[in-house]
Amino acid sequence: MAKLAPVKCFYCGQTFKRENTEYVQVSSKRYAHKTCAEKQSQIELIKKQTFELASSWLGDNLNIGKYNLQYKHFIKEGKTPEEIYQTLKYWIEIRQGKPERANGGIAILDYVFGEAYQYYKNQAENKKLNKNIDYQAVKQNLSNSIKLTVKPTPIAKPKRLKFFKLN
Ligand SMILES: [Zn+2]
Repeated sequence: MAKLAPVKCFYCGQTFKRENTEYVQVSSKRYAHKTCAEKQSQIELIKKQTFELASSWLGDNLNIGKYNLQYKHFIKEGKTPEEIYQTLKYWIEIRQGKPERANGGIAILDYVFGEAYQYYKNQAENKKLNKNIDYQAVKQNLSNSIKLTVKPTPIAKPKRLKFFKLN
């Protein structure tokens, strides 16, 4: 069997042997680690979702050229696609950022990354706290309190208000 020539991963640039590596072919002559290709398609997906979110938020004000430049700028600065997406979502849904004041782009996120990060961190911590609640104990407490016979207060029928005298 002829040996296959080693190839360079299209995404990470590492050389690998196709005989002992899980790989995909990305074009007629280009190959990539399977894991790198999967990671890349995840990135593309989030990128697409971010764009969709931004364009539904900005509507007619969206300036695609501006948006793309700003997106690239954030990536270059070391932000991950997830961070950009989550921060935009935070700005729109939690902070109710006004699209009319966005100048057709997402430059505002530059000022929001830290805040959004803190918000999601708090949320994650709250979730963890809730998880740590001993649900068995809560259930026990509840059933104990049910054992106490609580007489329901009779609900008084609301009197019909007479607005008009019919007679
Ligand atoms: Zn790779």
